[in-house]
Amino acid sequence: MQSEQASSSKEEPPSAARLTSLKQFRAAGRGFWRDVSDSDWNDWHWQLKHRVTSLEQLQHLMPTLAPEEIAGAQFANHKLAMAITPYFFNLIDPADENCPIRRQVIPRIEETHTASWEMSDPCGEDSHSPVPGLVHRYPDRVLFLVTDRCAAYCRYCTRSRLVSNATGYDFHPEFDKQIAYIESHPEVRDVLLSGGDPLLFSDDKLEHLLARLRAIPHVEFLRIGTRIPIFLPQRITPALCAMLKKYHPLFVSVHSNHPRELTTEVRDALGRLADAGIPLGNQSVLLKHVNDDATVMKAHVQKLLLCRVKPYYVYQCDLIAGSAHLRTSVREGLEIMEQLRGHTTGYAVPTYVIDAPGGGGKVPINPEYVLCKNANRVLIRNYEGKVFEYPEAPDGTPTTTPPRQIEEPELV
Ligand SMILES: *Cc1c(COP(=O)(O)O)cnc(C)c1O
Ligand code: SF4
Repeated sequence: MQSEQASSSKEEPPSAARLTSLKQFRAAGRGFWRDVSDSDWNDWHWQLKHRVTSLEQLQHLMPTLAPEEIAGAQFANHKLAMAITPYFFNLIDPADENCPIRRQVIPRIEETHTASWEMSDPCGEDSHSPVPGLVHRYPDRVLFLVTDRCAAYCRYCTRSRLVSNATGYDFHPEFDKQIAYIESHPEVRDVLLSGGDPLLFSDDKLEHLLARLRAIPHVEFLRIGTRIPIFLPQRITPALCAMLKKYHPLFVSVHSNHPRELTTEVRDALGRLADAGIPLGNQSVLLKHVNDDATVMKAHVQKLLLCRVKPYYVYQCDLIAGSAHLRTSVREGLEIMEQLRGHTTGYAVPTYVIDAPGGGGKVPINPEYVLCKNANRVLIRNYEGKVFEYPEAPDGTPTTTPPRQIEEPELV
């Protein structure tokens, strides 16, 4: 009992009020666009057409821009375009330069600083592409890049070499070639549509693609990676959900990083997808000033469950050129994971991964729970740091020796 009290007081956030507000669902609201009609505001095409894309618009909406942001916005169109939906823009706190929403979508001049170990294609995707726009890295599944456009652009995007076409990569995937590759590779049982954002396609265009993939007998499983439910929840229409539902088993992975992104609008959009029978996962990127804090991360994963989303992965920020100002250390990431596992619902705990630089794929990174193992026993510790022994006979079968908790770890 005593240790429970001790551990819960250790976890007490700096401000309990702040934690409550992180867990509350709030509407993003109209903010600067209060004169816009309901039908325009709720129309995803209107949202796309009225995105914030220029420094002039940004300065008009947010006179409190920092010099680093002004310089960043001037430079953005040479590297990764700036675009922010009005809906998402309203989540920014103009009074806080370190606002976690602001850091994700407003460019800063630090993006032009490239460290020697940073890369334009940190996960080596281009070198694992048998045809343009298809990455075949793992034995049984492929990543199918369908577009270079997103509803808004994340400043740390690992695919900024091609996304938004600011650097002239000129990505025009030819679906015929990608689909022909999948057809001729019977080992591919899982196709992950990503980009860019596949949900920017019209319902018809997306359906056409899904139907072609479903017609391939060995393709068992489809998934879509998208940030649209977060950037543009208006896109998740009943018609889209009714269409997606025809292509089960279909999973959707969304990308949210901070509890403030989970508004009532987002919760309702995710609810519509879940009601269409689509299992939902979330991928976060660990980012400085955004979610590099166990209290924030815990509120985020718990809130995701309230939105019917299973936290799937949390990524160490890839070594994408110009992202050092958003990067955290692996040590900090491990400390955050340590504060999740065991301290909250198992379903809420994502797997922390590093996408191995150069193309090694996702490697799980865990706090160490196995203290040592030899032929006779495994010594483990739990989330509270208590040590336990799991005895094993040399041939691997459990022995009859009763398992025990060890007060002081013994050296083996
Ligand atoms: C992330 C990724 C996948 C999917 O990996 P899972 O661990 O199955 O979610 C597949 N292909 C590539 C190239 C990827 O980067
Ligand atoms: S939504 Fe995804 S692909 Fe698009 S900019 Fe953000 S991280 Fe990159």
